[in-house]
Amino acid sequence: MAEDKKGLLSELFAPIAGFGVTFSTMFRKVVTEEYPEEKRPTQRRFHGRHQLNRHPDGLEKCVGCELCAWACPADAILVEGADNDDTPLAEGGTGRFSPGERYGRVYQINYLRCIFCGLCIEACPTRALTMTNAYELADHNRADLIFTKDQLLAPLQTGMLAPPHPMVEGLEERDYYHGKVSGATQAQRAAVDAERAAATRHTEDTVEEVH
Ligand code: SF4
Ligand code: SF4
Repeated sequence: MAEDKKGLLSELFAPIAGFGVTFSTMFRKVVTEEYPEEKRPTQRRFHGRHQLNRHPDGLEKCVGCELCAWACPADAILVEGADNDDTPLAEGGTGRFSPGERYGRVYQINYLRCIFCGLCIEACPTRALTMTNAYELADHNRADLIFTKDQLLAPLQTGMLAPPHPMVEGLEERDYYHGKVSGATQAQRAAVDAERAAATRHTEDTVEEVH
């Protein structure tokens, strides 16, 4: 008799039995993430977009050695190094961008290839390359996912001076890694001002010659 009753109830509720899960879920706590309006912070060691770091005076840490590119299993990095040049810009020099002999003249990361494994940052001998927590890297076309050096370079912080400019006076490259540089000095600022003034004079002279 009891089994007949159970069978009758099952038959009665059969057409709406599938809603059981729906009804039971309706009263549970919502787990939907309201992205992109609300962004959840990542774990501190999350591997996101890369960054090319600077020394405290603004010079770049990258020495153009290409070790990151060789370490990359996805062939996502392109580096072309060049020599730093202390010849004044007005005399045809190309400038100094890092404390050592070489700097990364061209630097690109192709985010269509990158798998965010972090092998490149492990290979970097100067800690020039690190990974940030930024993960919003989607785009509508392929070209915009190849990040260039100007996009990857860390912004200038207080006390930094935009390269090219000379190293801190009296210091060697190794001193930069021994923490002896805390910011751009007056002599570095004066050198940049002098370069700018010389460049302006050079431009004015060229305009006069044209007239
Ligand atoms: S995170 Fe991995 S895949 Fe991406 S650029 Fe670095 S080494 Fe290559
Ligand atoms: S980011 Fe590091 S490993 Fe890559 S070229 Fe620059 S210094 Fe070398």
